Amino acid sequence: KQAEENLLRSPICCIMGHVDAGKTKLLDFVRGTNVQEGEAGFITQQIGATYFPAENIRERTKELKADAKLKVPGLCDIAILVVDITDGLKPQTIESLKLLKMRNTEFIIALNKVDRLYGWKTCRNAPIVKAMKQQSKDVQNEFNMKLRQIVTQFMEQGLNTELYYKNREMGETFNMVPTSAISGEGIPDLLLLLVQWTQKTMVEKLTFNNKVQCTVLEVKVIEGHGTTIDVVLVNGVIHEGDQIGPIVTTIRALLTPHPMKELRVKGTYLHHKEIKAAQGIKITAQGLEHAIAGTGLYVVGIDDDLEDVKEAAMEDMKSVMSRIDKSGEGVYVQASTLGSLEAFLEYLKSLDVCIPVSGIGIGPVHKKDVMKASVMLEKKKEYGTILAFDVKVTPEARELAAELGVKIFIDEVIYRLFDQFKAYICNLKE
Ligand code: GDP
Repeated sequence: KQAEENLLRSPICCIMGHVDAGKTKLLDFVRGTNVQEGEAGFITQQIGATYFPAENIRERTKELKADAKLKVPGLCDIAILVVDITDGLKPQTIESLKLLKMRNTEFIIALNKVDRLYGWKTCRNAPIVKAMKQQSKDVQNEFNMKLRQIVTQFMEQGLNTELYYKNREMGETFNMVPTSAISGEGIPDLLLLLVQWTQKTMVEKLTFNNKVQCTVLEVKVIEGHGTTIDVVLVNGVIHEGDQIGPIVTTIRALLTPHPMKELRVKGTYLHHKEIKAAQGIKITAQGLEHAIAGTGLYVVGIDDDLEDVKEAAMEDMKSVMSRIDKSGEGVYVQASTLGSLEAFLEYLKSLDVCIPVSGIGIGPVHKKDVMKASVMLEKKKEYGTILAFDVKVTPEARELAAELGVKIFIDEVIYRLFDQFKAYICNLKE
């Protein structure tokens, strides 16, 4: 059994949805941590990573099924789309849906905040069917009404959805799990469904492969470690001392948080000599300040040519570059990671938005970005603008922008950034 388990890597799961739908809280609940309150009103747009041991999932789903057979040792290559059941679909839910469709990612819908239905009787950590049976007729009616509304909203987006325990067409009809991230109803169902669904449909994808596949999530300075990178190792094994690229350097330390803890939250780390996929890892090494979030990390083998590694890394950038407007006219767009930049460009290109882009940058807005954006001022004043998605602006850049007349809009939410820009254009026209 152990040997068989080792053949599969942990699936990787991502959580998406509108602001305030409960993404952070849901993860906090599963982990038993409190990232959400630590953030005090901030919006989590960064990606985090937590490793969930199989033992923990087995324990928490035992009420649903005596000893769920876990072939997959953690969570997944699947997404959870979180919808606030009292609110229904919102702009970012639809944005998330578009991304999921674009990448052909399997997903499960969590209808979160069921405990907010008026008169809800708490059944801590109970499977959802059991919890639902405890509710009054009024609560059940309200639940059914909200459910019907949401099913209709998804249908308007071209999606068939159904409560998972009533779903007879798994694969064609998307599963919904009612949950509460506060009192835990439906969480066992969500965990079990994730694990079962990934093992049933993704065995091939999850079969452990020796070829290193690794993505940089975040580049950041940590006291005592210098610039570090948080990565997700999707496949393969990496070792302390491995030479990595495209920034050519040698891994000084491989660190992970303790199981069930969040990689992004400060704390003590475990040191490793080697790590096998899938895992979220913090890497320390020289020169990491040049790494770009969202791009691949490559391990240079003894037989590998360094130039090939560099070329593979360039491929990551190409798909993004190809989205820039060929006319050379458009706004300047800045985002924190390659992934968020891609998502943002996709949004700006969509028909109902349709804003041309002339230049892009990753990371904080610097003077050089302002200089580049200012070129547009003579061509089309409104394009002399930087749309800064979830990034900081350096004081020097801000000063220069004021001097040159470059507008900088900042927001952590894509559609709000667009709204700001739209309002600005309308103002100019008047
Ligand atoms: P995120 O923006 O999607 O990460 O949402 P958060 O996890 O930060 O949650 C937004 C707010 O909704 C916070 O005040 C949470 O405490 C609250 N919340 C999240 N999930 C639930 C839930 O299941 N029930 C209730 N009553 N409140 C929730």
